[in-house]
Amino acid sequence: MTRSTSVAMTATIHDQLCDHLLRDDGQEDLCMAIYRPSTGRSRTTALISAILLPNVGERTVHGNVTFTGDYVLRASEAAAAVGGGVVVLHSHPGGHRWQAMSGPDRDAERSYANLAREITGLPLVGMTLAGSDRSWSARHWDQGAGQDVEAAHANNVRVIGPTLALTWNDELAPPPPATARLRRTVSCWGPETQADLARRRVLVVGAGSVGLDIAVRLAASGVESVTVMDFDTVEEHNLDRLIGATGRDVALRRPKTYVAHREMSRNATAADPHFEVSNHSICEPEGLAVALDHDLVFCCVDRPWPRAVLNSVAYSDLIALIDGGIAIDTMPSGTLRNATWRSHVVAPGRPCLVCNHQLDPARVPLDIDGLLDDPAYIAAAGNRQIDGAGQNVAVMCVSAAASMLAQYTSLSAGPGGFGDPGPLQYLLSTHELAHLDHTTSPHCPYEASEAHGDLRIELTGEHATAEHQRQLQVDVSTRVRLLQWLDDRVSSAESWIDRVAGRP
Ligand SMILES: [Zn+2]
Repeated sequence: MTRSTSVAMTATIHDQLCDHLLRDDGQEDLCMAIYRPSTGRSRTTALISAILLPNVGERTVHGNVTFTGDYVLRASEAAAAVGGGVVVLHSHPGGHRWQAMSGPDRDAERSYANLAREITGLPLVGMTLAGSDRSWSARHWDQGAGQDVEAAHANNVRVIGPTLALTWNDELAPPPPATARLRRTVSCWGPETQADLARRRVLVVGAGSVGLDIAVRLAASGVESVTVMDFDTVEEHNLDRLIGATGRDVALRRPKTYVAHREMSRNATAADPHFEVSNHSICEPEGLAVALDHDLVFCCVDRPWPRAVLNSVAYSDLIALIDGGIAIDTMPSGTLRNATWRSHVVAPGRPCLVCNHQLDPARVPLDIDGLLDDPAYIAAAGNRQIDGAGQNVAVMCVSAAASMLAQYTSLSAGPGGFGDPGPLQYLLSTHELAHLDHTTSPHCPYEASEAHGDLRIELTGEHATAEHQRQLQVDVSTRVRLLQWLDDRVSSAESWIDRVAGRP
């Protein structure tokens, strides 16, 4: 598998870099920064964690900017001290969108690529800021060595703030062709937004009622790369709200991700969709590695452990998290008292799941120790709510999905120039929508781990329930295996008929 590269930064860092690199006199400028790597299964992202502005004499502005070896040395030592690498950034004041490297750009970066890598152990990252639209381009000097060192261009650069802004390298990640199926979608936000949103890699963690609905709607909106992660198997009690799953899926002991892939494929509108599934938990190292390949994550799980992992990744790896859920409150008589659904974007600049009271850190170790699945613990806990055991109804969980998709739209498309609205809560009984005024705790360890990347708080480990579920999916009887095989053939025949009938 060819590894791709990317660069990410917060809007705060982006604004500070623009202040320095875009000069009033219209000349190019330059500075250095420190990054930390975030290593996914197939992508490495450089997360910019600190800016090192030049001291007097370390760079000269004279039409084309030049810099000294001492500046590279100072930046390399500062980066090495925090386990990071060096970024060298300069501006093309009149530039627009992704920038190609000029000859002098290439020579300047190449001449210091080996030095920076030798001191930090990490490749030099070069970046260009286009002055006209403040978009970035980036390359990692990680090909070859010595005289032959060469740069590999990144796929994209993302800036996470009230909106998630990406600049794309059209050569490596070409804009998808418009299809007739997407005409009405494109007419809502224009071809540029569509070309951007369609290329973002989106992960949906949890393929239950809310996660499945979100995944299918992303596929129908033309998003090309959607991954769904879940280790659960479809069971009979899921059928009242897992829209698309059937009794046959229960009988054939199918993983929820199988159903998600099937329903996404049936509803896809992109010309070349590539949907993936993972039967891991985000709490397992393999699951985390999958997540690090994505630009955006939907959290559709209610257990404390996976929520803690995703909460950490939102800050440490600058991968925006859209979280939400529904709580249903019943009267002692068993009738409906109220239902509340919430949604929020979790990312630098916004309170984390602990600070917005959506994750109780005391329950994370109970989940890790398996106590939330332990009948003895559940009995001893009396009527304390056990996470994941909550009630849900198909006519209501769609509202939780809708609320999260509305957060996604605000974060991604910035309607009217507004980004994500902050934490929202909707009360069903009185039909009131509230903007919740949560703020960050001054000592929040999650938010303090911003751009730490591979030095993030280690929360993954063995996940006995996920392991057990996967084993059950493998250990099916010969009869079930035969039925699965027959059903797959029927599905293939149906796809073939669709193709022949001209329904791609
Ligand atoms: Zn926090």
